[in-house]
Amino acid sequence: MLDDGGSQDKLIRGDTGQQDILPTNERLHTIRLIDSPLCGHCGDPDTVQHTVTACGEGASIWLWTKRRITWILRIEPAHIPPDWTTRPQIRLWPNQRHRAVLWILAQMVWYRIKESRASAEQDYCDFLRRTRWNAYQTKHRRTNVGNYLEIL
Ligand SMILES: [Zn+2]
Repeated sequence: MLDDGGSQDKLIRGDTGQQDILPTNERLHTIRLIDSPLCGHCGDPDTVQHTVTACGEGASIWLWTKRRITWILRIEPAHIPPDWTTRPQIRLWPNQRHRAVLWILAQMVWYRIKESRASAEQDYCDFLRRTRWNAYQTKHRRTNVGNYLEIL
């Protein structure tokens, strides 16, 4: 995955269509497949961002993720809006840092969509460290993300 920085960018921007195929209740309601646009777990409006950053363990996982990103960027957590997870219209320098932040965001989105909403922060941390290990095995790791993922 990290061999091609472009595919990471695409993944996180939803160019792969991922965002469009995720069947949130809001979307299913719009096309009249279900009666309510609300989340079946908590009753809030069910959007992609709700699934990723708010529902179940999402809020604490997003907080944890945001804190790591603030360490990389040296900015306040308040400057990292939740829509970075689905539309990260950010340009960071150097490129390694940019890719590292996109990598973290993409892993979080992937994890939240794939795993149960009740999956805990600790399992998420373990998942991130496993996938980082894989990322660090790739040939172009230094040019791709440098050491920015060490903070995970
Ligand atoms: Zn919910």
